[in-house]
This record gives sequence, C-alpha cells and structure tokens, in this order.
Amino acid sequence: MSQPRRTIYLDHAATTPMHPDALAAMQPYFSEFYGNPSSIHGVGRRASVALAGARRTIAELLHAKPSEVIFTGCGTEGDNAALRGIALAHREATGAKRIITSAIEHHAVLTTAEDLRDHFGFDLTILPVNSAGVVPIEEVVTALGDGKDVAVVSVMYANNEIGAIQPIGEIGERCRALGVPFHTDAVQAAGKLPLNVAELPVDALSTSAHKFYGPKGAGFLYLRSGTPFQPFMTGGSHESNRRAGTENVPLIVGMAKAFEIVERERPQENARLRVLRDQLIGSILENVDGARLTGSATQRLDSHASFVISGVEAEGVLIALDLAGVAASSGSACTSGAQRPSHVLEALGVPARDAVGGLRLTLGHSNTPEDVAYVLQKLPQIVAQIKGAAPVML
Ligand code: PLP
Repeated sequence: MSQPRRTIYLDHAATTPMHPDALAAMQPYFSEFYGNPSSIHGVGRRASVALAGARRTIAELLHAKPSEVIFTGCGTEGDNAALRGIALAHREATGAKRIITSAIEHHAVLTTAEDLRDHFGFDLTILPVNSAGVVPIEEVVTALGDGKDVAVVSVMYANNEIGAIQPIGEIGERCRALGVPFHTDAVQAAGKLPLNVAELPVDALSTSAHKFYGPKGAGFLYLRSGTPFQPFMTGGSHESNRRAGTENVPLIVGMAKAFEIVERERPQENARLRVLRDQLIGSILENVDGARLTGSATQRLDSHASFVISGVEAEGVLIALDLAGVAASSGSACTSGAQRPSHVLEALGVPARDAVGGLRLTLGHSNTPEDVAYVLQKLPQIVAQIKGAAPVML
C-alpha cells in the first residue's frame, strides 16, 4: 500500500480539528460583534445575546438549566473549579475533609486532589481499578462509609488513555443517597456518551471544547443548583459570581455550535466508529506480535482502541507510524522528554517493561475504512521491523 496523500489522524483523544460550521459560527464574534458582554451599549448587548444563546443551547442539550452552565477556559479549569470549589465549600459548611477519586484520573484531577491534600488540609482516598480499568462499585461503597467526612467524590466518565467507561450512574446514586457531592470529568465523554443530567446523578461535570470539534481554550462546567461551590477564579461578577473574567464570546459560540453538532450526530457516528474500532482491535490483537488490549473490551468508548505491545518502546512505533503518514499516541504521560510508565497502566497492573509499549489509536470524523486498512497493513510490519532490528533493552 502506498503512502496516504493526507495524514491519517488517529489521535482524536488528544484533540480534534474544528468542525467547519463551528469555526464559521465563531468568526463574526472576533471582528464584527466584538463587544464585551457585560457592556450596556448595543455592541455589548450583541455579545451578551450570543453568550446567552450559547448557554441555552448547551443547557438544553444537557437537560439542565442555563444558570447551571459555567463557561471555563478548558477541561483542566473545569476540573480545578469543581474539585477545589466543591471541596472547600462543603468542608466549610459541614467539616467534611476527605476527597475520594480514582487512580486513573487525568492529572487535572489527580494533581488537584493532591494539592488539596498537601496544601489545604484535606485527606485523600484513591480508588483502585480492576484489570479492565473500571472502578469497582464495592470500592466506592467502602470508601464512602457513611459519607459524613467526604467533601467531594470525583470519578471520570471515560478514561483518556484506555477508553474505559466508568459506572458514574451507580457511583452518583451512592453519593446522592449519602448527601456527598459528586463530580465527573467528562472531557473524553462529551460528544460520545449521553450527558443528560436529568438522568445522570452528577452534581458537577466538566468538559473541553477541543475534544469535540470545538475550539481550544473553551470548556463548560455543569454545576447542579444547590451544589456547594466556592469560586477559585475571583474578580468581577461574571458567570453569576462563579468564574470571574470576561467571557470568551467567539470561542463559547464555537463550542456551543460544535456541541450541538456532535450531540446530533452522536448515535450514527458512534455506530460508524465502533465498526472501525473493532476492526482495529481484532486485527491488531491477531497480527501484531505481543499486542494486548488495555482497558475493558466491552465498557469502552466507540472511538478508542488502546494496547500495550511487549518488546517495543512506544516512541519507536509512533515515529515509524508518523513517517508512514499516521498520527497516533502512546496514551502515556511523557514527562520532561522522558517516557515514564503511565499511572493508568500502572493502576491496571501492567508491568513496567510492557507499559513502555503503549499505543493509543483514537478515531474521529475524518477516519475511513481505508485509513484503518492502511494502519492494519503497516503496523504489524513496523513492530516486526523494530523487534528484528533492535530488541528493547530493559
Ligand atoms: N480530563 C481528561 C480526561 C482529558 O483527557 C483531558 C485532556 O486530555 C483533560 C481533562 C484536560 O483538558 P484540557 O486539555 O482542555 O485542559
């Protein structure tokens, strides 16, 4: 098979290209309708009408109230705002000072929880996962106890490295029964899983626009009415005193448009990508020497295929794929240029010698059956060549 004419992008969990309609929707708000939405004059009012419209669109798609949508700058900000804001406010009201989260959270949650432990006097309980990368509900029940000392529980909806979907409905129900606030990081779930908060028992849910074909630099935090919350961005009275700072109207308009599109297309797109994902998983497990699936085979995002390949280092595979015209990822954190075993693979019990061979292929709008066929032809050759040329020294 000859080199593809365009890059085959298989890193949609890292970021997505903007949907052209979302890009078009936001464009006038940079130049034509540039007003500050807090201004009284007509130029400002034009912006505040757009802001209110975007908030309404997102709220309707979530089955929430517009007042429950807070605009943020990214997923990391939403996670920080929720964790810090809820933990501090709930502790002030009740004295509860324990935070419960899982071992496979994104660093936006884990590092924030550690900061609250190390610098703000909270206790921290980290929930383990099973070998499929799913938090067992019994672990949540045990960790919660009677819930009286728990300030907040935060468990992600779907994992970014292994695509495993967490039982947030059950976790949320347990929390609700005990009066414990529950936050979920839905950054990887938005546009791929239902975010109907009339049915999901979540008090807070954070997202990031650039993961669902919206712009980088925008996100939203859903915060259920009545949830204890102390803003961590203080200043003006924007976002009803919950997130100070002039709202980024163009990006918010683009995000609302992108969210509308992904939600509308979700059932068909999931079904289409599931077929491609299953081809990737089936063929890679069969034809790539040493490949093993990471994360659940059944409870996983339709767009997500992830593996460890024993006997190779991810970097070599990714460079060879890149040279062959395929953009993929290891799915593991790369800290200061040095590949360190990912905390997620560690939590799954993957031995360090295999964890260096992580490979994540995440599908999206642009991917076709031809893309998948090309990767499935190239990858076994690449792995065989690397193994033949230089065995990994560990
Ligand atoms: N949470 C999860 C699960 C993610 O995958 C990411 C980004 O990769 C984030 C949070 C952070 O989002 P952002 O890049 O918008 O700050």
